[in-house]
Amino acid sequence: MRLRDKVALITGAASGIGREAALLFAREGAAVVAVDVNELAAQETVAAIEQEGGRAAACRADVSKAADCEQMVAFAEAQFGKLDVMFNNAGIMHGADDDAVSTEEAIWDLTMNINAKGVFFGCKYGIPALRRAGGGSIINTASFVALMGAATPQIAYTASKGAVLSMTRELAVIHARENIRVNALCPGPLRTKLLMDFLDTEEKKQRRLVHIPMGRFGEAKEIALAALYLASDESSYVTGTEFLVDGGLTAAYVTPK
Ligand code: NAD
Repeated sequence: MRLRDKVALITGAASGIGREAALLFAREGAAVVAVDVNELAAQETVAAIEQEGGRAAACRADVSKAADCEQMVAFAEAQFGKLDVMFNNAGIMHGADDDAVSTEEAIWDLTMNINAKGVFFGCKYGIPALRRAGGGSIINTASFVALMGAATPQIAYTASKGAVLSMTRELAVIHARENIRVNALCPGPLRTKLLMDFLDTEEKKQRRLVHIPMGRFGEAKEIALAALYLASDESSYVTGTEFLVDGGLTAAYVTPK
């Protein structure tokens, strides 16, 4: 088992990447703290893990709130005695997020508060716990849009993911001598609720698919497998990376027909 005796906290664990990662990490031996603003759905993730004989506990937290993030880390240590892996994965892509001219300030603030400040809070309160455990791995979910201009405008989301990526690099450098690794996981477009709700017409979906050499959306499970590598000691010399899992999207100039 690749995460034997590890304790992993995963935000956004009620759905998509977070839920798949929670199930996978537990199968690989980790005790999982499944954090989400949607407590009922986080409890469903925990029930699914327990049904397979794994160890998990649900915790409600809104990652844009400092007190919630402090409490979720304390909960992890109280439940399972330590924290080894911090997966800052919760995020939103708001339907009213558009180009700079059309996007309301409130959408900008909401998106930045959850996607960027949420990662900051996860690190602010998670790092002291990782130190107490003698080190660990932080995985911050960014996106390919931190590296490429998006064809469908989503200015607040794109800015928030740029912040996650640059924050990750600095964190990796600052904490490298503390045995704390910090990597940004950069998924390409996925067939999860977040993106399918945003690309709400077939035309918008096809517009995005045009850019992906593999010609399909990725699956949450394919990102969870990459997160597993970054969480485990197999990636012991990997820190500060933009770990792309994107079906070849960022490598493409023109995609094959
Ligand atoms: P999802 O919508 O399936 O899951 C996101 C989860 O985060 C939900 O359970 C939601 O309740 C939770 N959440 C939202 N706001 C929260 C808050 N304030 N506090 C705590 N939990 C909150 O989405 P997903 O596709 O699994 O996305 C996970 C991460 O991956 C996000 O950061 C997203 O930006 C990123 N990402 C997704 C894609 C994609 O195409 N789906 C691509 C690149 C990056």
